[in-house]
Amino acid sequence: MKKFMKPFAYDLDLPDWKDWMKEHGEPEFRAGQVMDWLYEKRVNSFEEMSNLSKKLRDNLADAFELQPLKIITSQESQDGTIKFLFGLVDDHAIETVVMRHNYGVSVCVTTQVGCRIGCTFCASTLGGLKRNLTAGEIVAQVMTAQKALDESEERVKSVVIMGSGEPFENYEPTIQFVKIINSPKGLNIGQRHITVSTSGVVPNIYRFADEGWQVGLAISLHAPNQDLRSSLMPINRRHPLAELLDACWYYLRTTGRRLTFEYALIGGKNDQLEHAHELGKLLQGMNCLVNLIPVNYVPERDFTRTSRNQIFEFKKVLDSYKINTTIRREQGHDIDAACGQLRAKHNKLV
Ligand code: SAH
Repeated sequence: MKKFMKPFAYDLDLPDWKDWMKEHGEPEFRAGQVMDWLYEKRVNSFEEMSNLSKKLRDNLADAFELQPLKIITSQESQDGTIKFLFGLVDDHAIETVVMRHNYGVSVCVTTQVGCRIGCTFCASTLGGLKRNLTAGEIVAQVMTAQKALDESEERVKSVVIMGSGEPFENYEPTIQFVKIINSPKGLNIGQRHITVSTSGVVPNIYRFADEGWQVGLAISLHAPNQDLRSSLMPINRRHPLAELLDACWYYLRTTGRRLTFEYALIGGKNDQLEHAHELGKLLQGMNCLVNLIPVNYVPERDFTRTSRNQIFEFKKVLDSYKINTTIRREQGHDIDAACGQLRAKHNKLV
């Protein structure tokens, strides 16, 4: 990112705003006022913050960028799913998805431009990692979605950190993002309504467990043994399955929360009943939920999808090991809603 670029207003949490106000000779309560304008009234400029002095508004505008994203496209699916393609200040493109469920609206945010993890079935990693997002660029995804939803009086109820990128390779900004959207002065989204997903960056699973939060954790597992997982996810060579599971047990002991394992079924690779038995044995006795995901087709990747029938057979085996299992409902099929697909298409065109 360019060195001379201003920080984003959405990068700051309440204590940071208080420090800024102190440094600039302003009373501390101005911090809360600025956050009200940003998150409650959701203004698009400092000029609109009418209970602040003209001098303070000018100072803020000099110091911070308020709009880190511009909407390149937004597509709405027949099922109500919205997919945004956002342009960043340095012209990279990222994707954000808004999903409407019967229990409320959730937003899926991106944490990096591209990704360096290299999972063989994923579109986000094509082209590697360009850069990390700042906390403010992640917050702005939710805010821009919320502003669009304001028109229909809908409110973002939950957030999943499952868009492109590996959040645990961009750890501090991800944590700062969670603090801001969770803050009563921010979006006030409950920790239990926030979930972060990792491909298995083991040291940061321990760190995350030690945050003492109620934020949900999902692990992208995708295979029940070391060799198969390494062939699908190169990170498994750096952080082997056995070490990943040790970290998962630590998380369960420390937080008392249930853990989610994501398992994308890839035709002929990891979707046989023997894999289901192996998975059942691996996870038996763990307080967890296995989320079976019919793999999304990625044109650049060579794999087939598992039949509906086979997915049910796979689930039945897991049921026999008393493992809670759900099959992910698919949304937004008509709008390239699989991770990284829209951006990959966009990058080919520009
Ligand atoms: N890097 C993090 C979060 C982003 S990916 C992680 O790996 O968990 C979000 C989820 O989508 C992960 O479980 C990922 O493995 C999965 N995913 C990636 N490509 C997919 C595809 N083509 N079909 C189905 N799921 C996919």
